[in-house]
Amino acid sequence: MLGKRPKCFPSDLFAQLTTLAVWSPSIIEVKVTNFDLSSSSGGTAKVQQVVCDGITIVNAADYVAWDEHPVQFELCECCLHPGCASGGCVCVRRANDRVLILPAFDSIFAGEWEEARHEAPLWLRRRGVLSLTKVQWSAFSAPIRGAPRWDDLEHATTSDLVRLFHFQSPRLFLPDFTQPAGARWETILCTNGDTDVDIEFLRRVFSPEISACSHAFCSPSPESYTISAFLDGNSVEEWRVFSSEHPPALYLADDLHVQLHL
Ligand SMILES: [Zn+2]
Repeated sequence: MLGKRPKCFPSDLFAQLTTLAVWSPSIIEVKVTNFDLSSSSGGTAKVQQVVCDGITIVNAADYVAWDEHPVQFELCECCLHPGCASGGCVCVRRANDRVLILPAFDSIFAGEWEEARHEAPLWLRRRGVLSLTKVQWSAFSAPIRGAPRWDDLEHATTSDLVRLFHFQSPRLFLPDFTQPAGARWETILCTNGDTDVDIEFLRRVFSPEISACSHAFCSPSPESYTISAFLDGNSVEEWRVFSSEHPPALYLADDLHVQLHL
């Protein structure tokens, strides 16, 4: 039982209890605002902000340090120096015909200090990874200092995509997405395919060997359908996992499927 949300419930913990999904914004806007820098260098700074569906994604696009990894999208609003404040960091990667704004998975797996320093923005932890088309990327990146063009973006690695799949797994099944060995297999009641075969495939996706495989993006064949796992929670929770074809194409979003070469 989740129960009532306690008074001092940490926002992250709340996010842990929800299922995340790739988010494709409907509206991307560039807004201009002023920051009061009187407590640092003095004066006021006029900056451009990138806003998706009303949520500020980049708070001072003109000051982003793109050559740093991970990239900080939320800068300290007192001085606008990258790295002054912790968190607000992302990793931007091409995935087929999309750009994904991902958490800095490398930092999360590097250790507690790196994880805290390079924490993902709250919107990403609460709502999920942002996915942009090529056209959207041009609008999104136009005001951002140093942002690469579409053709120059780094591509997501297999590890990025597998971690994304883990990140989006229901926390009921995988309480800590960085610990795939902690998957709670007993919560899977069944799938809408061949349950034993489907679970066997899923177990490989959560095994340590998965890091050694390669991947290819694909579109599920028109004859295939989506396989879901049904989880035993307060109510039965549906989790879309892959397509019914062989080999299965892992479901990352409605328009993003990937086949792993296991
Ligand atoms: Zn500062």
